[in-house]
Amino acid sequence: MNTVKEFIENGADENFHEEFKEELEEKSEELEFMRAIDPDKVKDGELSGIPFVVKDAIATEGTVTSAGSKIIEDYKPVFDATVVERLKDQGATFYGKTNQDEFGFGTFSTNCAFETPKNPHDPERVVGGSSGGAGAIVAAMDKPLISIGESTGGSITNPAAYNGVVGITPTYGRVSRNGLVDYGNSLDKIGVLAKTVFAVAKGLEVIAGHDEKDQTTVGGAVPAFAENLKERDSMKVGVPKQYVELEGLEEGVRENFEESLEKLREKGAEVEKVDMPLLRKDISVSSYYIIAMAEASTNLARYSGMRYGLEKDPQDFEDFNDYFSEIRSEGFGEEVKRRVLIGTYARQAGYRDQYYIKAAEVRQKIINQFKEAFQEYDVLVSPSMPNIAPKIEDAEDMAPEKVYAMDTLTVGPNLAGLPMISVPNGTSEGMPTGLHIVGDHFEEQTILDVAKTFEE
Ligand code: GLN
Repeated sequence: MNTVKEFIENGADENFHEEFKEELEEKSEELEFMRAIDPDKVKDGELSGIPFVVKDAIATEGTVTSAGSKIIEDYKPVFDATVVERLKDQGATFYGKTNQDEFGFGTFSTNCAFETPKNPHDPERVVGGSSGGAGAIVAAMDKPLISIGESTGGSITNPAAYNGVVGITPTYGRVSRNGLVDYGNSLDKIGVLAKTVFAVAKGLEVIAGHDEKDQTTVGGAVPAFAENLKERDSMKVGVPKQYVELEGLEEGVRENFEESLEKLREKGAEVEKVDMPLLRKDISVSSYYIIAMAEASTNLARYSGMRYGLEKDPQDFEDFNDYFSEIRSEGFGEEVKRRVLIGTYARQAGYRDQYYIKAAEVRQKIINQFKEAFQEYDVLVSPSMPNIAPKIEDAEDMAPEKVYAMDTLTVGPNLAGLPMISVPNGTSEGMPTGLHIVGDHFEEQTILDVAKTFEE
């Protein structure tokens, strides 16, 4: 087997699965990015035997789906999420669940209720978040695989960048969310991480498309993203001024980005700076976190010890409030509690207009600003993250608002439901950095083609 493309097209040879399992077990233990390993049967199909792993927040029948939280640490769904079902139907082989920040709340996977996964490029550093395990496993394995992640505000392209792999977040509504443990329903998108642009294109093609179990999915035929992949010889590329002028953008990251622009120019791109004032950190990060936390705080109400997960003997408690408080105090981590408090506050009567409604208005303006930019440009590009993966100990010590600020480059396009991809663009201090390519709604093929052009 030579390339990922060949592997996907021709399937696995007879020794592949045994070798894959061995390598996976060894690396998972070393880097703590798996929650459960569960090799399934190999079926014949389009993806004949290609291995896939799934972020822990996505339902897998009979395998623990904890979303990185203690409150549902033993939850085994009785069904597969639509994306899992579709991969299995195409003959892909399910290998297990990848570790993540609790309920997707984080940027470094340091908010996992279980172990913190370590970066395969340097075990002292983080893997990114919240689909951190999903990115790390792709980087760690010598063998090709498809890794299913989920992004609310950047959780696919962030770990793709920190681990030096490719990650695509599709347009909101392109992929079914049926079976996803919701974070923020108006923001959540399931996508793919893998070693190459071809592999993410193929993975996306398989999981995308209308699903009657998720009425927010769009109808119509799904393009053959992988087969249609082609290098471009011309393109109009916009560089949001607010992104390159971001305070805290590390020098090494900036240099790699400048080189990427040069490379794109060599491939025929016309590159221009574009002024997008609403992408400023104070505007986009605040509106994202208000909306995301407001939605999260309502989604989390179901974890009360009544129907799912952690439970205790009600006889030991005075009343239901007492019971719920005990269950939630014990089952939720610190970041989850913080978000329940802030989210509930932001949407309660009396404060709603000032916070939630205002953030929703800003969100619409951000969408309009992107739409305007896409009348002029095929894609918008920036670094995927402002820094290289920080050291685990430094990330753990960072104040919440500093962590949230790290998402400045990814929350804008996520608020707008736009498709985005991160491709590796060199290293700084020995750690990978990523080029972020954002497209207009349903222009996945455009960003994949630009990524392919860049990758070649
Ligand atoms: N870091 C962001 C947050 O904590 C994004 C996480 C995500 O996309 N799940 O909300």
